[in-house]
Amino acid sequence: MSAIILDGTKIAAQIRAEVGEEVKKMTAPGLRPGLAVVLVGHNPASEVYVRGKVKACEEVGILSEKLTPPETATTEELLALVDGLNRRDDIDGILVQLPLPAHVDSKKVLLAVSPEKDVDGFHPMNVGYLSTQRPGLVPCTPAGVIEILKRSNIPIAGSDAVVVGRSDIVGKPVAMLLTNGNATVTICHSKTHDLPGVCRRADILVAAIGRAGMITPDYVKPGATVIDVGMNKITDAAEFARFFAGDPKREGAFAKNGSTLIGDVDPKVAEVAGALTPVPGGVGPLTIAMLMSNTLKAAKLRRGHRVRTSA
Ligand code: NAP
Repeated sequence: MSAIILDGTKIAAQIRAEVGEEVKKMTAPGLRPGLAVVLVGHNPASEVYVRGKVKACEEVGILSEKLTPPETATTEELLALVDGLNRRDDIDGILVQLPLPAHVDSKKVLLAVSPEKDVDGFHPMNVGYLSTQRPGLVPCTPAGVIEILKRSNIPIAGSDAVVVGRSDIVGKPVAMLLTNGNATVTICHSKTHDLPGVCRRADILVAAIGRAGMITPDYVKPGATVIDVGMNKITDAAEFARFFAGDPKREGAFAKNGSTLIGDVDPKVAEVAGALTPVPGGVGPLTIAMLMSNTLKAAKLRRGHRVRTSA
């Protein structure tokens, strides 16, 4: 048996096209949605992520504004900056790119973002809306996981779902969205006993762990849907060979770049699972697509449009 590969790049493109259409409709009467991205200092990875987000805004027609305070910016200065963005009517979404410099109180800065502009969905108010099934802003990667399932016609209601990982940004919100979608959900973590046994009960298995290839075929019920949220870089040749030996495309890329990206799921799971998201090209592309969708949703919520609730 070989799993159906769930093409996140294609699904993300569909979502971006849909968002683009709606943005066009809003922009015509002068209501163009706007996203402010705050990038503090010069973290190279953050700069790449922010470039991707700004580019996606351009593509779908969302106004984007990049604010780049210096590495030395204080908590108070960032709070003042966020306060200014909260007050601006042309800005619907505010994204503070993490990590912030060590001397900054990140939690305080994130808490200062107005919940109605919190397109990352991290504010406790939005966490509460999600858990009580009220319209609000849902974290982008978890929302992307649900979009992959729905758009691939994988039934959530009535399924047994297992989420490995309980972080505030991925594991917990994914579990909440699956619960809201009427799955029976088990959340696992580093203290879970018999993790393979628990995972084998899953019709839908979501891996959000941060450990290269940890979910091997013996964790997976034959025919299950496996969603791999993990993004891990491998540079060690022996580790690379363990996962990708005999894959000429990967071998060529590894020889050229000295590294490759792998999720939390061993590629051999494709021999057991019914459907599987690849890495790269699975959940990853959904994150930015859902940021665009969230910015549109924030613009509509602020302007009193009806918005469907999550999951
Ligand atoms: P995190 O905050 O480090 O959380 C990891 C979770 O995995 C924790 O709950 C931890 O358990 C659990 N865990 C760690 N080792 C385990 C083990 N041996 N057995 C069972 N559970 C274990 O990570 P995160 O921010 O949620 O991210 C998870 C992964 O998703 C990372 O690879 C990250 O790069 C990726 N990610 C991808 C995207 C995307 O756009 N595709 C977005 C965000 C994150 P404890 O709670 O007990 O410590």
